Amino acid sequence: MPRPAETGPAEPQAGFVHTFLPGRVVLGAGSLDQVAGEVESLGVRRALVVATRSARDAADVVEVQLGDRFAGRIDGVTQHVPTEVAEHARAKAREVDADGIIAIGGGSAIGLAKAVALTSDVAIVAVPTTYAGSEMTPVWGETSGGSKTTGSDLRVLPRVVVYDPVLSQHLPKKVTAASVANAIAHCVEAVWTPKADPITEVTAVEGLRALATGLRQTLTEPLDLDARSNLLYGACLAGSALATAGTGLHHKLCHLLGGTYNLPHAETHAAVLPQVARVNAPAVPRSKARLQAALGTADLADGLFDLFTAADVPTSLRDLGLTEDQAGQAAKAFKPTDNPIPVTEDLVREILTRAWAGTRP
Ligand code: NAD
Repeated sequence: MPRPAETGPAEPQAGFVHTFLPGRVVLGAGSLDQVAGEVESLGVRRALVVATRSARDAADVVEVQLGDRFAGRIDGVTQHVPTEVAEHARAKAREVDADGIIAIGGGSAIGLAKAVALTSDVAIVAVPTTYAGSEMTPVWGETSGGSKTTGSDLRVLPRVVVYDPVLSQHLPKKVTAASVANAIAHCVEAVWTPKADPITEVTAVEGLRALATGLRQTLTEPLDLDARSNLLYGACLAGSALATAGTGLHHKLCHLLGGTYNLPHAETHAAVLPQVARVNAPAVPRSKARLQAALGTADLADGLFDLFTAADVPTSLRDLGLTEDQAGQAAKAFKPTDNPIPVTEDLVREILTRAWAGTRP
């Protein structure tokens, strides 16, 4: 019998539980034109459109397509869903008697739609324009007084996701690379969280392949629609993997750093992930081999580091403004979590010291 360390957590022989989440995905260039039809198929009568500033033109198109079903619009969203912004959106949804919300934008626009769906019976149609993956998860978040509360509730899971690569064609390189780093972190970590399972692993490995391929393509051809489609497909898989595997050591470290020292969420992933992969991946060798094949590298940690470096995403916490003392404080403050190898203060210090300096894993 192979020992658990040799098989990793995601082998069917060990038995597993996987919950498929409901939802419909439409992907293709020009699919924005299908949004109104999808809204109609859901039986939505009064649709509120929520759009990030960069998606105003797309929101105009949808507003016209909706015809009588258009009930109102919220233009502009704020990062991390502040409670006052969520309250305003809920009031607007009540005022226009909305039974559906179309969210066009990144994780922030989709997050705002989720805040409304959490407290009223509205169906969400998500039209993502970044690669964060929130559209595939039942996870919501709201920020109040500087602290973020999150939870999971199937009422906030979008019923339909429409991925149109044309909408993210002009996403700036910096935002593209950072949101891809975030999505890649979801794929990599999905193989070793306590809830990892073989079905999620297949999703995560294919997600990593699509994201890495799409990112490399966009570095040379930012406007290439095939590259943007690859990234949206990868984001869809990364979000699905996050939805079923949840988060582990890597994300918990990033949330501690982001929440305590106000580091940018997406960029923090690029600095921390290669170092966590360096210590965790050897404990799940089969999953590691699959992720390496998907990334096209002989070593997962090095491959991630090289990909992020090639995309100009900072791979050092020092470059993001963290001091060496703060890295040490974070290592002390981190609470142990379920992980393939024991999480000691020394292990966390080693990860953060290397991530701080941006050492090649
Ligand atoms: P975002 O939605 O804040 O967008 C980042 C920036 O890009 C914004 O300034 C936005 O206006 C701009 N932008 C978006 N689309 C654009 C486009 N096509 N062209 C040009 N500019 C564009 O950021 P994000 O990375 O998409 O999402 C991050 C948020 O999502 C965080 O709050 C994170 O916690 C959350 N998130 C939630 C989940 C979940 O499951 N609930 C998963 C991943 C991320």
